[in-house]
Amino acid sequence: MVRQLTHWIDGEHVDGTSGRAADVFNPSTGEVQAQVPLASNTEVEFAIAVAKAAQKGWGATNPQRRGRILLRFVDLINQNMDELATLLSNEHGKTFDDAKGDIQRGLEVVEFAGGGAPHQLKGEFSTEVGKGIDTHSLRQPLGVVAGITPFNFPAMIPLWKAGPALAAGNAFILKPSERDPGVPLRLAELLKEAGLPDGVFQVINGDKEAVDALVNHPDIKAVGFVGSTPIAQSIYTGAAAAGKRAQCFGGAKNHLVIMPDADLDQVTDALLGAAFGSAGERCMAISVAVPVGKDTADRLVAKLKERAAKLTVGPSLNPSSDFGPVVTPMAKARIEDLIQQGVDAGAELVLDGRGVEVPGHENGFYIGATIFDHVGTDMPIYTEEVFGPVLSVVRVEHFDDALAVIDGNQYGNGVSIFTRDGAAGREFATRVEVGMVGINIPIPVPIAYYTFGGWKASGFGDLNQHGPDAFRFYTRTKTVTTRWPEGVSEGASFVMPQGS
Ligand code: NAD
Repeated sequence: MVRQLTHWIDGEHVDGTSGRAADVFNPSTGEVQAQVPLASNTEVEFAIAVAKAAQKGWGATNPQRRGRILLRFVDLINQNMDELATLLSNEHGKTFDDAKGDIQRGLEVVEFAGGGAPHQLKGEFSTEVGKGIDTHSLRQPLGVVAGITPFNFPAMIPLWKAGPALAAGNAFILKPSERDPGVPLRLAELLKEAGLPDGVFQVINGDKEAVDALVNHPDIKAVGFVGSTPIAQSIYTGAAAAGKRAQCFGGAKNHLVIMPDADLDQVTDALLGAAFGSAGERCMAISVAVPVGKDTADRLVAKLKERAAKLTVGPSLNPSSDFGPVVTPMAKARIEDLIQQGVDAGAELVLDGRGVEVPGHENGFYIGATIFDHVGTDMPIYTEEVFGPVLSVVRVEHFDDALAVIDGNQYGNGVSIFTRDGAAGREFATRVEVGMVGINIPIPVPIAYYTFGGWKASGFGDLNQHGPDAFRFYTRTKTVTTRWPEGVSEGASFVMPQGS
């Protein structure tokens, strides 16, 4: 009997009633380890009604008390870190240490949101804006909000969304990826243990049907989405048309520019981790290396080939694995097909990760490190987001050519430059059309108290995730203008008040 997962509604596990379910694999073995229910419209409507009722009390709770519950939740995550990381690694396929990183980067945002809520929610006050008149602003919760999240960070991204939304006084409904829903369900249990009132945080498992039910429901006031670009764009459009707030983050193709003065050993280390870590299934993975000058490119490709050939792909919980399998058999087939398209288009396959064998785990979804050289910007291996352990090398002559390649790409999530020349780094950061930039840092994921968000087809909406932007997204501003009567009537006024 395969384990049956549930939803989490009103503070408890609830079995699915739709009759539809999806397989959850263990990517390291290839086995189906569980089934997750796919919610119907009726199940989603029920969860929203529960959330709406629960939000009233939560929204009226002192922000510091709300924050304390979130800080207790952080403690519980830390206490249960190894168990959570094992669960995550078994469902996603990333290594145990990388799974801990996924959880850690999420809990840092909960820490920021819980500790910072009273400060972030402070309004403004101005006295004597007119004679005897004061003005102040309030930041109030929106009500019930929804988060729809991808498979590749099953702890971090749900926590990035739920932490600030809850701290701001909203009820939050999470629709996690159906490929690895185990960690979100466990996080729901820990939130309850931390003291969160029932109904304030709920998990609805499902696919398009559940997402549509959430996005279209009038009681969902904001939608936060992370996933692939076509779905991000369509959810953004649908939510905006229904008058809801939406921030929808999409796919990526992140470049790393190597200037001729860069230390190529450092660059090689950086590229190996950033391209192949988590089997390339990171929205901030580096999938394109852009060496400037032929000599830089020749030396870099030689070093990369030698080092990447020695990387170990293997079971996610095996400590000797540098990276694990990809998430599903469908993902494996898609990535291998894109590799073939790269070969067919004429790119030079320097290292081929297809057909890799992991003894004892013959049915796992493994692909070894793969490197293409002489990749053209019109080839599918460059234009498509591969989301696998595949690095493309696009050679350019000059710094300006590197910028032109990056600007010509549809995505604008992350980018990096490696150089010892401060002026080149500064000019790059100023001119590049990308939301998150690293200078001698391969994966520039901003820390919790700054914001995270890509440009162009990597992000739809005007506010970023975490940092102060998250509190702006999850609250609405009310502005109150006050005058206390002093007893003498001045008569009606028919002219717009003018501040001074
Ligand atoms: P996905 O788009 O397939 O799924 C994301 C979410 O949308 C899931 O919860 C899924 O159930 C739901 N969904 C899937 N199909 C849907 C449909 N037709 N209608 C409505 N909802 C649907 O993405 P994924 O494969 O889970 O994640 C990988 C993608 O996410 C990559 O493109 C990656 O770059 C992107 N990503 C982006 C960021 C970022 O911050 N920009 C971060 C992480 C991942």
